[in-house]
Amino acid sequence: METTNPATNERIDTYEADSADDVDAALDRATDAYADWRDVPMRDRQELLVNAAEILRDRKREFAELMTREMGKPISQAESEVEKCAWGCEHYAEYAEAYLADEYYPSPPGTTAKTQYDPIGPVLAVMPWNYPFWQVFRFAAPSLAAGNVGLLKHASNVPGCALAIEEIFREAGFPEGVFQSLLIPSDLVDDIVEDERVRAATLTGSGPAGRAVAQTAGDQLKPTVLELGGSDPFVVFDDADLDAAAETGALARNLNGGQSCIAAKRFIVHESVAEAFTEKLVDEIEALTVGDPMDEDTDVGPQSSEGAMEHLHEQVEASVEAGATVLAGGEPMDREGAFYPPTVLTDIPANCPADSEELFGPVASVFTVEDEAEAIEKANDTRFGLGASIWTEDRDRGERVAGRIDAGCTFINQLTKSDPRVPFGGVKDSGYGRELSKEGIHEFVNRKTVWIE
Ligand code: NAP
Repeated sequence: METTNPATNERIDTYEADSADDVDAALDRATDAYADWRDVPMRDRQELLVNAAEILRDRKREFAELMTREMGKPISQAESEVEKCAWGCEHYAEYAEAYLADEYYPSPPGTTAKTQYDPIGPVLAVMPWNYPFWQVFRFAAPSLAAGNVGLLKHASNVPGCALAIEEIFREAGFPEGVFQSLLIPSDLVDDIVEDERVRAATLTGSGPAGRAVAQTAGDQLKPTVLELGGSDPFVVFDDADLDAAAETGALARNLNGGQSCIAAKRFIVHESVAEAFTEKLVDEIEALTVGDPMDEDTDVGPQSSEGAMEHLHEQVEASVEAGATVLAGGEPMDREGAFYPPTVLTDIPANCPADSEELFGPVASVFTVEDEAEAIEKANDTRFGLGASIWTEDRDRGERVAGRIDAGCTFINQLTKSDPRVPFGGVKDSGYGRELSKEGIHEFVNRKTVWIE
């Protein structure tokens, strides 16, 4: 497996991929590790999560640089990501016990009826490159805390991150086999999902990958969680604080080079403020610093690869050919590396890529609507349903609209974000199941009823 720095297109490193025999040995190790790990007291598991958080904080810069080199995210955002992983570990160190506490039910006098949360075994996590640490930790911290063991198949462009994460868990004191990274291509995933030693699978990534894993898991009657793509609406009403909406909107679209599942992708703006808001959005977007992702002042780095950038540009070109107007950006930057400038499109016709597809890069699509009903209709006019952000000074309206948008999470006067304290996930083609908080730790457990006479 070769890694390439997307800021320079230079090769960074070569890793030897795991063979089918290596995978078989890893599954055996996972099985053996689970036999002991499931009985390790919760307080010991919690302590190890605290250790992992300490390692993450102590070596923040090193891990951040690794991410930035492999997939190009700006270094300051990479450091924040490492911090967030530490927070995720600490969150489950503090709350896992409460989240997994026995629950009691009515039963005849003299008897006890309760449910307890037992682990289920080795869980396979197929993860993407865009948040190469956070996506993994938000799966691993609750799963390991619940007594499961983890097997990671990370995206092929971030093998260094995959191995670093395995090392963090090892150094934190997690026993051998409790968390393992498999350096394998995606065509080996099916066999692993089918293998009886693996009890469940979670995938964060694209729809086709999610469908492939869910189909195989479905055949085997194994549970899955799917966190897939999104085309999140960012709805701006006529009573919104336009400065705040434009500033946050520019950030929400361009964080991580625009390569976030919950980025604000479709700006749906009331016609009476459309011109003013769009001007402010363009100003904010043009003020972003695009450049070397290792530079602390960079807001937007390169796309994750030349190929990803070319695909994004094809989507922009097709939208422009269909009639969309470019207000900012719109052409790959004339420099080494996979750099695409923050871009704003408007006058977007129905069914062109900017309208109907996920644009996984720094391209904002602006739509104008006449009223609340049309705003809701446009927000839901997508096969995705991950997040939504609604901007209004009228709290009742915000909550009313939030209730009508088909999304797994809605934020009012705030950008959509994941936070260990609240559940995260989607509906429609954005997937199913929830990560984080209590719901996340409950996805891969056996909620067992125990009746005592
Ligand atoms: P991707 O191609 O689906 O890759 C994600 C992971 O799935 C990688 O590990 C990949 O391995 C693997 N994979 C690909 N095809 C597979 C298959 N047929 N069977 C099994 N595994 C397979 O996704 P991406 O394009 O890198 O990531 C961007 C997508 O992820 C976007 O749509 C984004 O919105 C979504 N995403 C969603 C969330 C969320 O929480 N909902 C978060 C982040 C990203 P290889 O690298 O070896 O191909």
